[in-house]
Amino acid sequence: MITEISSGGVVIFGNALLLLRKYNGDWVLPKGRVEEGEKLHTAALREVYEESGVKAEITQYIGRINYHYRNIKEDKMVSKTVHWYLMKSPNMNCKPERKEGFIDAKFIHIDRVMDIVRYEDERRIIKKSLKIIGNDLG
Ligand code: ATP
Repeated sequence: MITEISSGGVVIFGNALLLLRKYNGDWVLPKGRVEEGEKLHTAALREVYEESGVKAEITQYIGRINYHYRNIKEDKMVSKTVHWYLMKSPNMNCKPERKEGFIDAKFIHIDRVMDIVRYEDERRIIKKSLKIIGNDLG
């Protein structure tokens, strides 16, 4: 079993939250691999910027999720941990980074995010974020 650590952001502007759309159509939160010697929060900010062009600011740590998947190239199981940070954006400007595998980036109203986010564990992190910012819609 290989282990992987990534870090990402729940990026808020007003009543909207930043989601990215992958080539396969899935809507996900921005995140990515933590580099050697890199701090979790630095990786989270870097990944948000690289994947969406958003220069966000961290408000607080939210929590982590863990999932398993099979790495097809190496034919090995991966145990992956992703750490999430609550962030605020200065505006709604964003652009999907195609080289990172995204075809769309949008700030989506919090009333709609739960219906379109692909993964249950990301929905859980979003719910927790909405509670923190004082919105119980989750
Ligand atoms: P990173 O964005 O951290 O660089 P990646 O793009 O290489 O990662 P993942 O997004 O972790 O890889 O996807 C690897 C596998 O895990 C895929 O099969 C994907 O469908 C699945 N996966 C991704 N996110 C989740 C999740 N939150 N819960 C469960 N499975 C997930």
